[in-house]
Order: sequence, then structure tokens, then C-alpha cells
Amino acid sequence: MSTMKMARRWSSFGTSIFTEMTQLAQQHQAVNLAQGFPDFPGPSEVLEQVAHETLHCHNQYAPAIGEAALRQAVSTLVHDKTGIQYCPNDEVTITTGATEAIYSVVNAFVNPGDRVIVFEPCYDSYAQAIANAGGILVPVRLHSPETPVGLAARGWSIDWSEFAAAVAGGFKLMILNSPHNPTGKIFSRSELEKLCESVRENDAVLMCDEVYEYLVYQNPEQVLSPVQLPGMRDYVVRISSCAKTFGFTGFKVGWVTASAELTRAVRLVHQAVVFCTNPATQRGLATMMSDFSWTKAYLSSLPEVYASKQEFLAENLVRAGFAVQRAQGSYFLMASYESHVQGGAMRDVDFAKLLIQEARVAAIPPSVFYYGSEAPKRLNWLRFAFCKTDLTLEKAAERLLNWTQSNGPRV
Ligand code: PMP
Ligand code: GLN
Repeated sequence: MSTMKMARRWSSFGTSIFTEMTQLAQQHQAVNLAQGFPDFPGPSEVLEQVAHETLHCHNQYAPAIGEAALRQAVSTLVHDKTGIQYCPNDEVTITTGATEAIYSVVNAFVNPGDRVIVFEPCYDSYAQAIANAGGILVPVRLHSPETPVGLAARGWSIDWSEFAAAVAGGFKLMILNSPHNPTGKIFSRSELEKLCESVRENDAVLMCDEVYEYLVYQNPEQVLSPVQLPGMRDYVVRISSCAKTFGFTGFKVGWVTASAELTRAVRLVHQAVVFCTNPATQRGLATMMSDFSWTKAYLSSLPEVYASKQEFLAENLVRAGFAVQRAQGSYFLMASYESHVQGGAMRDVDFAKLLIQEARVAAIPPSVFYYGSEAPKRLNWLRFAFCKTDLTLEKAAERLLNWTQSNGPRV
């Protein structure tokens, strides 16, 4: 199609980096540590219930706001996690994955010209949704661990004077993703307190993308959702999904919890975009999630499983000459390839392509996650997904080690 015909607000976007890297990985038969999906099935109990519902439920339009049983189960789960009670009828909405939830929430609150605070690097859906709403993406940089700000905070971090400058012009929406994709950062209580204070001062909405909420590798007592901070319930729209919670990225079932007033706006957009999500998956999930002791046992098993995967990959990346910043949460760790270029410069996109072609291991270059600002000149980092079978990770490790041994540093 001629790009002249495409609406201008879409013209700066291309095919998603996840599609691009997955295709490139397939082309070179590379191990795909790029796209964040488990290469093993989620719990069979859920699959069996979804299969049962597929055969026996109505299989016609579900209620637009979601199947009642799933809304109830989500309400119970979110209450267990946060201590906040959301009414299943008025404050819980089932969406077609977190992706649709992001789109609906942004479009529910952002008018053309409204400013939206986003922490970069950021997940790609945010920029696309903001562009479609006609909003202005106001970036606040998370400085990488080797920079002065990152060194002081011992990880990806905000420069608070930059934050103050960004919010000085006011804003309508702030988007916070914790645990954070791609950096694996979990925002601390003191960081959240400052962000929430600014949201309240601006009478803005805080969209919390918490899809990795159960993938946490530090003391869970220290991990907070902003909605748990005093006075925040009426400002927060919280998103999660079954993709990461139950390891089914193909199901595309997500949920939004928010006050009744904010929910009304989100539901209008959701109704316009998809109207509803398929009932069999919702009902199958609801059956297992309503078995709360099963759900709790399953979710509490995740950190140990994924922490050991992360550890294995991290140790092997270090052996292969990368410097690793371990994730506090999420499916991803960040690894610096600085020593492979020995102070020289190679764009992360080029290094990622080189790694696919030569080592046959695929990762994501984080520079693609900057939308409101230029990516830093030297961003010698790659994002590696560790949500993979031990076999896949062993294969990746072997290839990375062989590649490092047979190749000198690049300049
Ligand atoms: N938000 C973040 C931060 C993600 O990494 C992803 C990818 N799982 C999504 C949202 C989209 O989630 P879903 O697959 O449920 O649409
Ligand atoms: N969230 C996944 C990731 O960050 C990918 C989602 C997608 O492919 N759109 O890797």
C-alpha cells in the first residue's frame, strides 16, 4: 500500500521488533531468546479446562466486560496480591490480552495534545497507543547501569531532575511498567512514592502494566503495586494478563482493574475495539483460577523456576564475555556486550544481527524501545529472554561460548 494512504499517526511505526527478530532467528535457525514467550506449555490443568469449555460452552459472544466467573476470579486474585478489593461487576474488565488493555486505557484517557509520561526504554505498545490517541509521549530516561546515575542506583534508574523537568509541563497519564520490560527493573517504594505524588498533584491517571507481577526474584515483601500506596486507588488503572501469569501468550486474555469511574471509560474503548474476548478461554481460566489453592501453589512456584533459568543464562553469558545486569523481575535480563567491542562502537541492532548470524542466538536490541527521544549513543546492551526450556538455554549457552572462543573482539 502506498504510505500516502496510511494515516500519518501510523507512519513512523514499522513491523514489531519481536516479529522481525523471530523471523530472523527462524531464517538462521538461531535459538530465539528474543521474543518473550515460554517455549514450553503452561499448566495442563488450564489447557484441559479450556479444551472442555471449547467443546461445551456457548462459543458465542461473551459479555463485553468479560465472563462473570473470570471477573470474580480476577477480583479475588488482585485482592490477594494487593489487598485492594475491586467489584467484579463495576471494576474488573476482561480484555484481549494486556496489549488490548494498554490500547483501551490510553485511548480512554488521552485527548489529542495531552502529555503522557513514559519511562524509556519502554514496551512498544505504549508509543503506538499514544500516537493513535494523538497524545504527546514525554520520555523520562531510565539510565543504564554503567552511567553515573545507574552506578549510583546500582541499576537502571531515573535522574530525578530530569523527571521534574518532564512533569513540569503537566501530564494526563503516566505509564509505569514494573517489573519492567526490557530492563527487569522493579521500582522501589521510594521511587513509587515520588511518582505517585506527581500523579496526584496533576490529578492524572496512572496506568500500571504489571504483567510480570508474579515473576519476581527479590524479596516479594519489598515489591509493591502503586495501587497499594495510600490514596492511589482512584488514580490507578492496573493491567495484568494470563500471558505471563499462566504462561499462555497465545490465549490473549488480559484484565484491567480500576475504580468504577475509570473503568467506565476503559470499557467504552474496549467495546469499540474488540467488544469481547473469546468465552472458552475465559471460562477455562476462570475454573482453575477459582480453585484458589491450586492458583496460589502454581504462582508461588514461578519465581524459583525462573530464577534458576535466569541464573544459568547469566552465568553462561558472563563466561561468553558479557556483563550481566540480573533482572529483579520479568522474563528478561540485560547483558552488555561492551567487552566484545572493546570500547569501540557497534549499534545494538547491528550486534544483535551479528549474534544471530554468527552465534545463532537471537536477542532484542533495546534501542528500539526509545520513542520519545533518541536512544543513547552508546547502548551496548541486549535483552535476553530466559523463559525457555533448560534444553533451549543449554543450546544457547553452548553456541555463545563457542562463538566467543572462535571470535576475537569486534571494534
Ligand atoms: N506489557 C508488557 C510489558 C509486555 O511485556 C507484554 C508482552 N507480554 C504485554 C504488555 C502484552 O501482553 P499480552 O500478551 O497479554 O497482550
Ligand atoms: N512481550 C513480548 C516481549 O517483550 C513480546 C510481545 C510481542 O511479540 N508482541 O518479548
